Amino acid sequence: MADYDFDVLVIGSGPGGYVAAIRAAQLGLKTACAESRETLGGTCLNVGCIPSKALLHASELFEEATSGKLAKLGIKTPTVELDLEAMHAQRIDAVKGLTGGIEFLFKKNKVEWLKGHATFTGKDSVKVGDREVRAKNIVIATGSSVTPLPGVEIDQKVVVDSTGALELPKVPEHLVVIGGGVIGLELGSVWRRVGAKVTVVEFLDQLLPGMDGEVRKEAGKLFKKQGMTLKLSTKVTGVQVNGDKATLTVEPSAGGAAETIEADAVLVSIGRRPNTSGLGLEAAGLSTNQRGQIEIDHDFRTSVPGIWAIGDVVPGPMLAHKAEDEGIAVAENIAGLTGIVNHDVIPSVVYTWPEISGVGLTEEQARERTEVKIGKFPMVGNSRAKTNHEPDGWVKVIADAKSDRVLGVWMIASVAGTMIAQAAQAMEFGATSEDIAYTCHAHPTHSEAFKEAAMAVQGKPIHI
Ligand code: FAD
Ligand code: NAD
Repeated sequence: MADYDFDVLVIGSGPGGYVAAIRAAQLGLKTACAESRETLGGTCLNVGCIPSKALLHASELFEEATSGKLAKLGIKTPTVELDLEAMHAQRIDAVKGLTGGIEFLFKKNKVEWLKGHATFTGKDSVKVGDREVRAKNIVIATGSSVTPLPGVEIDQKVVVDSTGALELPKVPEHLVVIGGGVIGLELGSVWRRVGAKVTVVEFLDQLLPGMDGEVRKEAGKLFKKQGMTLKLSTKVTGVQVNGDKATLTVEPSAGGAAETIEADAVLVSIGRRPNTSGLGLEAAGLSTNQRGQIEIDHDFRTSVPGIWAIGDVVPGPMLAHKAEDEGIAVAENIAGLTGIVNHDVIPSVVYTWPEISGVGLTEEQARERTEVKIGKFPMVGNSRAKTNHEPDGWVKVIADAKSDRVLGVWMIASVAGTMIAQAAQAMEFGATSEDIAYTCHAHPTHSEAFKEAAMAVQGKPIHI
């Protein structure tokens, strides 16, 4: 230790980095975390998970009042008005509270925050601002940034990325979303609920790539029903900005006649790419793969001893909870313990209404690997969902035909994001569909739909 300033230096304070730093400190290691942003918490807390959920929650309540949903429950709201400034203020407040919370946790755990951009100067040395430090272990947790669309300039006024879309000062009349993935659908939902006409232009023939095929089809139907215009199998070939308006040129993905769409806001949400530029990877003897990611082994070690990497900058889904779990595991591995993340059981959630979630294999992936049994149960048959006027969606359980072990679970339901935790835990414990079917579930809860879907694998649900 004598030669080193720290046992562990974490670069980046997102969900991967801050969790790694806190766990390393908890394990008795002298730890620092470099962060170039003004506040801790990374993409997720500053411009990602948290601010988007603040707007999703507020806009959902607004729509409940304006759509007549509350009136159906006997709650009259004759004068509902949007105060966008106040909606933004509560978003900013949520971010401030949580990023400040990480600063408090750093102090409590004696993690030193090195403020500034970090650049490797050697295999165990990093320059942060004017200060050069040496660390026995360095964890790269630099996260990801928006993938640009060639030829389309993001001005954060008319053409915005997800950060700009969180901060629009007024409701656009027509928002065109380029990319029908998670960000496009979540932020598109926010602005549709508060009054924008929303068109989603998606290159592929379905929304939400990577999710179960049936989920993707159903999602398309639901978002259309909610009033979004979906232009699938369509690519944007250009965006021309004139003052406060934009004209998009689009054509079929497979080629064909071009058409134009007028918009007063354009959201570019075609994916995210790892942050490695300006990190000085070459000085550390590291390089990236073709996708710009840093390759790691099972224990999060890079090819250079003493340098580790986690989160969005390494291969795998770009999700905050995956980054967090990797943060705990990498710190435990550095401390000589056994840190493991089961990458086969990482849930994913789209926080729209209804919510969409999944864990494990899609039906397509499962069928490719083995013979499967499928159980499905509609939310319209669930007493709680029905009583709450939330009939949309279903739960699908995919089990191995021979062993009955659950291989994947997919859900579309108002609270699917909360319900999926139970599926992930069941799969982590190696549950069969019969285990779930014979587990007593409280009544009346949405979770009973999961039990019934598991019963449907056995061919005997009760309420349908
Ligand atoms: P990040 O959170 O990106 O943090 C990396 C940090 O490193 C940044 O603060 C950056 O400033 C810093 N940094 C980078 N390079 C350097 C350097 N050289 N020196 C110093 N500091 C550096 N995921 C979910 O699971 N659920 C959600 O609901 C969700 N919603 C999202 C909504 C939006 C709009 C967006 C954009 C993303 C969302 N995500 C969500 C994805 C989630 O934010 C990421 O998966 C997660 O933040 C990745 O964590 P990370 O620690 O790897 O990196
Ligand atoms: P994404 O990969 O989810 O979706 C991008 C979409 O854009 C895809 O459907 C793709 O086919 C489409 N696309 C790509 N190029 C296109 C083009 N030229 N024209 C039209 N469509 C095009 O990416 P995202 O929505 O930007 O989200 C980025 C990451 O952030 C995701 O990996 C996601 O995991 C994460 N995220 C997660 C959550 C959550 O967990 N709720 C929320 C937001 C973001």
